[in-house]
Amino acid sequence: MDTRIGFGYDSHVFKPGVPLHIGGLSFDHPEGLAGHSDGDVLLHAITDALLGAVAAGDIGSFFPPGDPRWKDADSAIFLNLALEELQNAGFRIVNIDTTLILNAPKIGPVAPEMRARVADLLEIDIDQISIKAKTPEGLNLDHVAQCHAVALVERVAEQEDLKSMTAVIESQRQLEDVVEDLLSSVHGVPKKRGVNPVYDTEDIT
Ligand code: MG
Repeated sequence: MDTRIGFGYDSHVFKPGVPLHIGGLSFDHPEGLAGHSDGDVLLHAITDALLGAVAAGDIGSFFPPGDPRWKDADSAIFLNLALEELQNAGFRIVNIDTTLILNAPKIGPVAPEMRARVADLLEIDIDQISIKAKTPEGLNLDHVAQCHAVALVERVAEQEDLKSMTAVIESQRQLEDVVEDLLSSVHGVPKKRGVNPVYDTEDIT
C-alpha cells in the first residue's frame, strides 16, 4: 500500500464581535477567530495536512491572505480545493486526526456534529475523522485557538498529470470544440475546425 502522511497546523486570535466558525459549524459565542477568511482554524489545519500529504504546497500558496476574493471566505472552499489536489494526485483519505487547543467554547459536546460536518465536506465516513480538544494549560494563550491535524492518505490511482498525453490533447481539443460551438451558436463566429490545418497536407505527398 502506497501511503503518505500530512501534517497541518494553524492558529487564530479571538476577537470580540466576530462570528465564530470552527469545523464548519457556527457558534453562538461573544468572540470569533479573526482572519482574512472566516478564521476556521480546524478546516485550515486539515487543508494543510491534505496538501502536505501530497506535497502540493500550503493553504497560503493557493489562497494568499492579501487576495480580496478570500475576504471572509467560507473555509469549506479551501478544504474542497485540498481534496481535489489530493484526488488529482491519485490519493484518497484513510483517516484524519485533529487536536484543537482553545479555552472556550467547549468542543466536546459538539464534536460529533463537527465530525459529521467535516466528514460530509471531505466525502468520508465519520469514523475516518477524529476531533479532540484541549485547553491551553500553562501556555498563557487563552485568547488564541490552535489546531494540529494529521492525515493519512493512500494511493488509489495514477496521478492525473501522468495519464496518457493523448488523453490530455484530446480533452484540450474537446474543450476548444465546445468553445467554438458556443461562439458559433451565440455570436455567429465561424468555426475554425478543419478550416485552418496545422500544415498544408498537399505539400507532404
Ligand atoms: Mg488560518
